[in-house]
This record gives sequence, structure tokens and C-alpha cells, in this order.
Amino acid sequence: MVILVDMDDTIEHLLVPWTECLNRKYGKNVRLTDVKCWNMQVTYPDLTTEEIFSPLDEDSFWDAVTPIEGAPEALKRLMDRGHEVYIVTATPYQSVAAKMERVLFRYFPFIRWDHVIVASNKQMIRADVLVDDGYHNLLGGSYRKILMDAQCNRMYDEKKAGMFRVKDWAEAERLILEWEE
Ligand SMILES: [Mg+2]
Repeated sequence: MVILVDMDDTIEHLLVPWTECLNRKYGKNVRLTDVKCWNMQVTYPDLTTEEIFSPLDEDSFWDAVTPIEGAPEALKRLMDRGHEVYIVTATPYQSVAAKMERVLFRYFPFIRWDHVIVASNKQMIRADVLVDDGYHNLLGGSYRKILMDAQCNRMYDEKKAGMFRVKDWAEAERLILEWEE
């Protein structure tokens, strides 16, 4: 199968260092439980888009981003079983190099650049499965939809939208193996 996998808060922890950085930089006191939506402008309504995304432009920021438990092992096993795993990230272009070097290739060295797709409209991509914590990326796509449980999607009714919510990579991997032909 062709399996698309989101990066931020699907295989690595972005939200924690991002909110910590924004709180420090702009004197805010947002807690993780205050984040109810994938769109950070909902969480920081008085910051501009540029301010919100500014931490991601600093190369050193990405050193604070760490992998989600079990993600490297699960992706490696899926690839070893012959599945094509593509990383799909809607990252700002300024952060691509640092994000790849300091996070993806550091913790997921078995994934090569030719299996990375930078795209905001993930629905344009043809694949069998997408694993993503952002339900807006799963809506309308022609792939099977695995919603990685995250702070930003807890309020979302995934069943109604035909998605499968998993709480971790062990569950995601189990579900994908069930779909193997
Ligand atoms: Mg994400």
C-alpha cells in the first residue's frame, strides 16, 4: 500500500515546543489543554500569522522537536513489509531544511528525501492511507483515513466523517496491517 504520514504531532511532538516558544516570546500563558483546533490562530487570536509561525523559521527551534513514541519503529516495520511510506507535511517553505535535517532524517534515517512531499492540500495526493492528526487533511481525501488522536482533535466526531481514530502508533500499525490485501 501507499501510506501517507503527516509529520507534526503525528510522528513528532510539535505542539509542546511551539506553545512554549510562543508563550515565552509573546508573554502568553496558553496551556496544552487550551488548544482545541489545528489552526493555532484560534488559540492565539491576538497574534498575527507571521508571529505564530515565526518560531518555526528558526533552525534551532527544530532541535526541541522529538519523535512520538513508537513512530520510528512502526514506520520502519511497515516499510520492511513492502509498504511505500511517504511523509506529507504542510510546512512553511522556510523551515523545510531544518525540519528535515534536525527531525526527520535524525530520528527516521530510513526515510529518504524522495519520499517526502510538501503539500498543504493533501487531498490532491493519491494513496491508500493517510495518517494525520489534522482532520481537515482527511476530509474528502480518496485514501483511508486514520486520525491520530491529539489535543487539537479531541472534540471532533471522526466516526461521522468515516475516519478511524487511533491513540498511538501501535493502534495505527495494527489497523494498517488489517487492511493489507
Ligand atoms: Mg499534523
